[in-house]
Amino acid sequence: MGDADVVVIGSGASGLSAALLVAEADAKVILFEKQRALGGTSNFFSGTFAVESDMQRERYITYTRDEAFKNIMEFNHWRSNPRLVRAIVDESPATITWLQKQGVVFSDVINNMPDSPRTYHLVKGRGEAAIKAIATRAKERGVDIRLATPAKRLIKQGDRISGVIVEEDGEEKEVRAKSVIIASGGYANNKEWIRKYSGFDLGVNIIPVGNIDKMGDGIRMAFEVGAADEGLGSLELFRVGPIGPEFSMGSQIEIVALQPDLWVDFQGERFCDESIGFYDTLVGNASARYKEGYTYSLFDDTIKQRLIEKGPEKFPEMRPMNLEKEMRAVLDRGTTEFFEAESVEDLAQKIGVNPVVLKASVDEYNQFCVKGHDGLFAKDPRYLRPLKGPKYYAVKARTIFLGTLGGIKINERTEVLDKKGKVILGLYATGFDAGGMYGDSYPIKPSSGLSSAFSLNSGIMAGRNALKYLGNLKK
Ligand SMILES: Cc1cc2nc3c(=O)[nH]c(=O)nc-3n(C[C@H](O)[C@H](O)[C@H](O)COP(=O)(O)OP(=O)(O)OC[C@H]3O[C@@H](n4cnc5c(N)ncnc54)[C@H](O)[C@@H]3O)c2cc1C
Repeated sequence: MGDADVVVIGSGASGLSAALLVAEADAKVILFEKQRALGGTSNFFSGTFAVESDMQRERYITYTRDEAFKNIMEFNHWRSNPRLVRAIVDESPATITWLQKQGVVFSDVINNMPDSPRTYHLVKGRGEAAIKAIATRAKERGVDIRLATPAKRLIKQGDRISGVIVEEDGEEKEVRAKSVIIASGGYANNKEWIRKYSGFDLGVNIIPVGNIDKMGDGIRMAFEVGAADEGLGSLELFRVGPIGPEFSMGSQIEIVALQPDLWVDFQGERFCDESIGFYDTLVGNASARYKEGYTYSLFDDTIKQRLIEKGPEKFPEMRPMNLEKEMRAVLDRGTTEFFEAESVEDLAQKIGVNPVVLKASVDEYNQFCVKGHDGLFAKDPRYLRPLKGPKYYAVKARTIFLGTLGGIKINERTEVLDKKGKVILGLYATGFDAGGMYGDSYPIKPSSGLSSAFSLNSGIMAGRNALKYLGNLKK
């Protein structure tokens, strides 16, 4: 296999960007990917964050890097590393141009939720197309990509990293490298770590989506050579449902469950202003307070009819024209995720909550609707619509997460730090493996698309800084 200037661990947005950046300067890069396919979770993102990009300028979008920085830090309650946040925000416009140069096509810049800045650069063909474009360019530039070859351990000599041990065809092999960039995508599938750092029982009261065999390999390897941790335990939380083989991708019942009508917890009590559902992380956070892992969205025939005739408020482009057909089909299949009843009390029995409690919740909510004022959670009156039957419905919604948000402590150059704050020479961490970008939650409202943007930008920064380090080594 030979030696490398730089080894990259992981082929997601962060790893591939780092590898290409280094290879563009004619340095020798070997990228190891655990799976048989490229891209990891990065195959799924639809849009990425940037501020002051050329695309935004062309659209007269005036949101500035200063504003974005301040808003992200405020959302994070200044629990994140301000220099790192600033560096990512500042890097973001050039990254859009760099990606376009690599063949990534952006169709528009949108705000995909109300009252948020237009930061979301929509990728044509989603993350999968972006991964394909960057990987193609990386291969052209000579990056040696090894699929199904997980990195196992880092090699450190004195105060600097000098290579990795990988497993190829069932055998451990040593690869010498002057620098290693960790981009292995976090620990979303590590049951023990999720329990230890986040307090959830993976697969029971929280479900990871879009992550395969993410065991925190890169994070563990960094800890083994003395790296400090930052931000472990933070998750990119969402709320979705129903879940099950009887529901197709893009289920219309799911569209209904996401609308800002009446939602209740596992005991039948309202638990949030349902319009926070426009901001997925906020409702993910609200749901995650319940260690049961599920909540319910309720609706009735009037709400159903409104959605069919006028379309939904969240995802307005997805009018649920086949809703009734889908409802009948899943009920006929005996689903335990969607329920229909003749009365609120009957619905309560079916979903296993106290009928008195659920009836009180619906009655109170209906009174708020009549008054035009949500006396409990102050929901915008435009979303206050009563439930009056004749039929009542409930959809089970789950607390899920798209990835883990912390791990290895890095500085604003993505260099890995030890417990005394000293740089571990030659070691960089990026994307879902790195800490310091977030507080205890994902700042979706001020910076939609930041998750993939952190991966892309931290990857580029790691590549650039690894090159600088190589330059310094040569001197
Ligand atoms: C359904 C879904 C939708 C999303 N939508 C958006 C969106 O619209 N906008 C947005 O900003 N973000 C979105 N995200 C989040 C975004 O996809 C992630 O932030 C980003 O892809 C993470 O990139 P990464 O490079 O850090 O990790 P990954 O893309 O997961 O890459 C890590 C790679 O490392 C590999 N690996 C693991 N261990 C090893 C090892 N030991 N050796 C070698 N390789 C290893 C993994 O197999 C994987 O391929 C979404 C996520 C999901 C799940």
